[in-house]
Order: sequence, then structure tokens, then C-alpha cells
Amino acid sequence: MSTIPPPRHGPGPPFPMNAPLPSLVERLDRLLPQTQCGQCGYDGCRPYADAMARGEAGVDHCPPGGDAGARALARLLQVPARPYDRRRGQHKAPQVAVIVEADCIGCTKCIKACPVDAIVGGAKRMHVVLEPLCTGCELCVPACPVDCIALLDV
Ligand code: SF4
Ligand code: SF4
Ligand code: SF4
Repeated sequence: MSTIPPPRHGPGPPFPMNAPLPSLVERLDRLLPQTQCGQCGYDGCRPYADAMARGEAGVDHCPPGGDAGARALARLLQVPARPYDRRRGQHKAPQVAVIVEADCIGCTKCIKACPVDAIVGGAKRMHVVLEPLCTGCELCVPACPVDCIALLDV
């Protein structure tokens, strides 16, 4: 016995029909720059997205996202747009950290400070930043006791 294929009405959907839609938290998180700097007052982008989805944080907390980012968040949440809160930090061009290798004493403090594991090195050995992973969050700069980490514009 042959089976009759189901009728087709034009091209299929781009995703399987039963694929789950991204949650509101996920969609908010995707709009954030993923710098993981904590300037929003939360422990990274995802916790800030969580707080916005719960209605506990405004859309203006993220300096790396700038005014455009705050607008995009407001659009998604269907709330009035507002500029980002300048008191939280400055919106800057993308940066990466660079370690002045000759001055590094290998204390490992920058490794512990980096939220995205972009620094490699062992105790008493020179450390280096893996540039493609660095978000430019600046958290390693104050952690360095010999001030040998600089931020460069990308
Ligand atoms: S300020 Fe923006 S980029 Fe930094 S952790 Fe918060 S949401 Fe992420
Ligand atoms: S290397 Fe420094 S600036 Fe780059 S992500 Fe890590 S802590 Fe942030
Ligand atoms: S904190 Fe500074 S001195 Fe210590 S390992 Fe990192 S770059 Fe080197």
C-alpha cells in the first residue's frame, strides 16, 4: 500500500515548526554587546537581560551598547526609548587588552579578573591576551599590580 504525501503549500518555514522560540531573556541577551564588563550593575550581560525580562531593570544600564543599544532594548520590550545612563560609564570604540610582556611578573591576577578567559599564562610566567576572545571589558587593568596592561583601539 502506498502512502500519500501531505500537501505542500509553497516553500516550508525557515526553521522546523516545532523549534522553540527564543525566550525574552535570550532575545534581550542577543541585543547586548557581550562585553561582560558589569557596568550595568549585574554580573554580566545575561543577568542584566534576566533582570530586564523580570521588569526589575531599565533599558539604559549598558554603556558599551550606547544609545543605539538602549533603543533596541526599548523596542523589544515595547517601552519608551531613552539614552543610556552616562553615570555608568562611557560608550567607547571597541578595544582589546595588550600585556606589556617585559613588565609582566606572572602573578596571574589578570587571569582571575577576566570574565571570558581571554588571558593565558602560568605563575611567574609571562601572560598574554588572546585577542579574538578579549571583549575590552577593562576588568584586568585594575587587577594588575604592575600596571602592565593597556587597552588599544581595535
Ligand atoms: S554593561 Fe552591557 S556589556 Fe557590560 S555586562 Fe552589562 S550588559 Fe554586558
Ligand atoms: S583580557 Fe582584560 S579587557 Fe580583555 S576580556 Fe579579559 S579582562 Fe576584559
Ligand atoms: S596581572 Fe599584570 S603582572 Fe600579573 S600576570 Fe597579569 S599582566 Fe602579568
